[in-house]
Amino acid sequence: MKNVYLLGATGSIGRQTIEIIEQNPNDFNLVAISGYNQLDELIDIASRCSLKMICVKNQEDAAVLKGIFKETEIVYGDEGLKSVASLNPEDSEAFLINALVGMVGLAPTIAALSINRDVLLANKETLVVGGHLIQELLASHSAKLYPLDSEHNAIWQALNAESMDSVNRLIITASGGSFRDYTREQLQSVTIEAALDHPNWSMGQKITIDSATMMNKGFELIEAAYLFDIDIDRIVPIIHRESIIHSMVEFVDHSIIAQLGPHDMRMPISYAMYYPNRKPNPTQPLDFSTINALHFEAVDYDRYPLLALAISAFKQGGSQRTVLNAANEVAVALFLEGKISFLDIEAIVIDAVKKHQGIPNPSLDEIIAIDQAIKTQIRNEYEK
Ligand code: NAD
Ligand code: MG
Repeated sequence: MKNVYLLGATGSIGRQTIEIIEQNPNDFNLVAISGYNQLDELIDIASRCSLKMICVKNQEDAAVLKGIFKETEIVYGDEGLKSVASLNPEDSEAFLINALVGMVGLAPTIAALSINRDVLLANKETLVVGGHLIQELLASHSAKLYPLDSEHNAIWQALNAESMDSVNRLIITASGGSFRDYTREQLQSVTIEAALDHPNWSMGQKITIDSATMMNKGFELIEAAYLFDIDIDRIVPIIHRESIIHSMVEFVDHSIIAQLGPHDMRMPISYAMYYPNRKPNPTQPLDFSTINALHFEAVDYDRYPLLALAISAFKQGGSQRTVLNAANEVAVALFLEGKISFLDIEAIVIDAVKKHQGIPNPSLDEIIAIDQAIKTQIRNEYEK
C-alpha cells in the first residue's frame, strides 16, 4: 500500500489519478490533495476519501472547508502546496504526484524531494524553470523523479534502465496540435474554441494551447534534457499526427525502441504509480487492424517559432527559461480571456525573452521574483 499526496487533484491529470486510486483501494491511499478554483469538486473528493490535509486557493475557501471537514487540516496558497507535498516526512511508503499547471509547481516539487519523497511529475514547468535546482536535489537526495508526461514516460519505458552511454538520440513525437494543418496566415484569426480542440488528447486548457503553439514540445525537449541528462541537440522532435508512438530511443547501434499505446494518460500515470511493476488498467488497447498508417514529418521551426525559442532559451541557460515560461503563462491566460489573439502569444513571449538580461543559475527566490515581475509587466501592458 502506497500513500499518495496529490497536487492539482481537480485537473485533467489529477482526476485520472484519483480514478486509478479509487479503482485500486488495496494499492493506494490518498492522504492529501490540493485544488484551486473547484471548491465543490474538492468537497466531493474529501467526502469520499478520508484526507489528512487539503490545500485550497485562499483563506476564504479554507474557512468553508474547515466548517465541513473538522478532522482534516486545511491549508491554502503557495505555502499550503508545500505543506501537502511535505506532509508526514517520515512516511517512506509514499509519493507525491504533482499535477499542478504552471511554475507554481516548482516549490512543492522541491519541498517533496527535500524530504526524500519520490515525485511523479506531470508539472513540466517545474523542470522548464527550475531543472537545474531539481538536478542538484536529486544528486544529493535518495528521492527519485518519475515522468508522467507521455513522451518522457515512453522514453523511460523504452530505455528500460539501459545506460545513457548507449543512447544516440531521443526522438520525441508531436501531434502538431489543434492548428497543424493551418498556414501562418490562417492562424491570424483562429478562435479560442478552435485552439482548445486538440485532435488527439483531452487535456487541461493551458497545455492544449501550448500544444497548438508547440511551446509544449519546446518545454518537453527541456524536460527531457534534464530528466535524461542529455544534450538538447540530441533530442529530436518529429511530427507524428496519430500520437500512437509516444516517443522513441535511438541507441548508438541505430536500433530504435519505441513505446506505443492509446492516447490515454491513465497508461503513463498507472505505469509510474506501479513502477517497477505493471498493472492492468481500463484503457482501450490499440487495434492495429484499424490503424492504416503511421505518419512522420520533420518539424518546420519557422512555422512554430516558440519551439525554436525554447531550445535557444535553454541553451542560453539561467533565467531566460524563467522568462520564457512566465511570459508564456500570462500570454496563454490573456488569450483564453479573449484579450489577445493567438499569434500575440508568440509575439509576447519572443519579445520578453529578447529583452531579458539573464542571470545564471537563479535560486528559487530569484525565479519567483522574476516570474512575478514579468507576469505583472505583461498584464499591465495588455490590460491598459
Ligand atoms: P489542468 O488545468 O486540468 O489542472 C491543473 C490543476 O492545477 C487543477 O487542479 C487546478 O486547480 C490547479 N491549479 C491551477 N492553477 C493553480 C495555482 N495557481 N495554484 C494552485 N493550483 C493551481 O491541467 P492538466 O492538464 O491536468 O496539466 C497539469 C500538468 O500536467 C501541466 O503541467 C501539464 O503541462 C502537464 N501534462 C498534462 C497532460 C494532460 O493530459 N492533461 C499531459 C502531459 C503533461
Ligand atoms: Mg506530452
